[in-house]
Amino acid sequence: MRIAMIGGGYVGLVSAACFAEFGNQVSVVEIDPDRLAALRDGRIPIYEPGLDTLVADNARAGRLSFGSDIADAVTGAEAIFIAVGTPPRNGDGQADLTYVHQAARQIARAMGDYAVIVTKSTVPVGTSRRIAEIVRETRPDLDFDVASNPEFLREGSAIGDFMRPDRVIVGLDQTAPDGGARARAVLSALYRPLYLIEAPVLFMALETAELTKYASNSFLAMKISFINEMADLCDKVGANVHDLSRGMGLDGRIGRKFLHPGPGYGGSCFPKDTLALTRIAQEAGAPTRLIEATVGVNDARKVAMAGRIAAAGGGSVRGRRIAVLGLTFKPETDDMRESPSIPILVRLAEQGAELRAFDPVGMQAARPHLPPGITYCDSALDAARDADTLVVLTEWNEFRALAPNALAAAMRGRVIVDLRNIFDPAAMRAAGFHYHSVGRPI
Ligand code: NAD
Repeated sequence: MRIAMIGGGYVGLVSAACFAEFGNQVSVVEIDPDRLAALRDGRIPIYEPGLDTLVADNARAGRLSFGSDIADAVTGAEAIFIAVGTPPRNGDGQADLTYVHQAARQIARAMGDYAVIVTKSTVPVGTSRRIAEIVRETRPDLDFDVASNPEFLREGSAIGDFMRPDRVIVGLDQTAPDGGARARAVLSALYRPLYLIEAPVLFMALETAELTKYASNSFLAMKISFINEMADLCDKVGANVHDLSRGMGLDGRIGRKFLHPGPGYGGSCFPKDTLALTRIAQEAGAPTRLIEATVGVNDARKVAMAGRIAAAGGGSVRGRRIAVLGLTFKPETDDMRESPSIPILVRLAEQGAELRAFDPVGMQAARPHLPPGITYCDSALDAARDADTLVVLTEWNEFRALAPNALAAAMRGRVIVDLRNIFDPAAMRAAGFHYHSVGRPI
């Protein structure tokens, strides 16, 4: 099948490469000239394990191509995916649909024969119907359907998530004269390789598919905020949050995932999607108070973490040298969007800390987001050199392997604030550290 993918970012590029790997002919349209030049040169503008090989193999096999001409890409395509960004709209947190609507107009102007226009971006309820209206207004002559196919991949394990998803969600216009049957046939054919691994493909109404994505991300964000609050409670009452989360998570109704405490959730999806869901729900007159609280708890948590770092070092960070391990919002990505490191380091810098940071892949992406004056180091031990306090913000695997004695030899102070609980408290104490983690007071 021929497919056009509008947008070559995380989702567009991974989806395009995976659809090509399934044997389809995929044309990616990207408007950012730097990103496009990189892709055409065989360079991957984002860090995602395995993506470089997958893109290179499929480009070499002639199944994956990159360009800026939408007409070239959509000619002969049976499915046209919209995978452009939907950042929070300035001011109110609702999703900004400028790029989605622009893409819909461009597709309409360029389209010829029948195709299904599929929204992969995360969009508010009603967007797929609005896309259909825009296409009809722009080109009343066109024969097309719309579908919603929200993406659930995680950065850092995006290819595995796309190739072996827990489920695929497809929203169809069930009010169309054929009940969405023609679009369903196209999407079924596209996802047929997944039937072999028995990944469920769920067909539902457009509105339900759009909302399922927000509901899923918001539920996961709520689970993280829940365990973060439990961790704070554990700190106060002398309980251990890891034992607690195992004790809870082995209950099949609860599940073990997303019960790991930390400095608050970040990334390009959870903060914006939780906020957008609260706005969608308010506008619909059915407020989601649990998610409103989740947003508030998470915002407050990031601020509180800077206070926790200061308190661990005696109350003030002025003039103190702080080593920061990890900047990205999670390991195995260079994505800095909404990383908890940003508000935490901004506060520490404002309060006069001397910051030395290291991240295995995120330092270049981090610089524009972080305050000036941070020293970017070559390794974790380089960051730790002569530091008074060492702070872990991202649980990169290479940090887990740091020997307590090596850290003690590098640092001049003896304070560690491990906001991801990657170190063994007993080993750190044995090495002479005042070791603080999250929800493990004993
Ligand atoms: P991104 O910003 O990395 O990529 C979007 C790309 O689209 C950019 O490269 C941009 O230049 C390009 N673009 C914008 N308008 C265009 C146009 N008219 N024609 C061609 N290219 C255009 O964004 P992303 O992280 O890939 O996210 C895309 C969508 O997928 C968002 O709605 C997001 O919420 C959703 N999503 C993201 C993830 C994730 O982990 N990043 C996971 C699931 C869903």
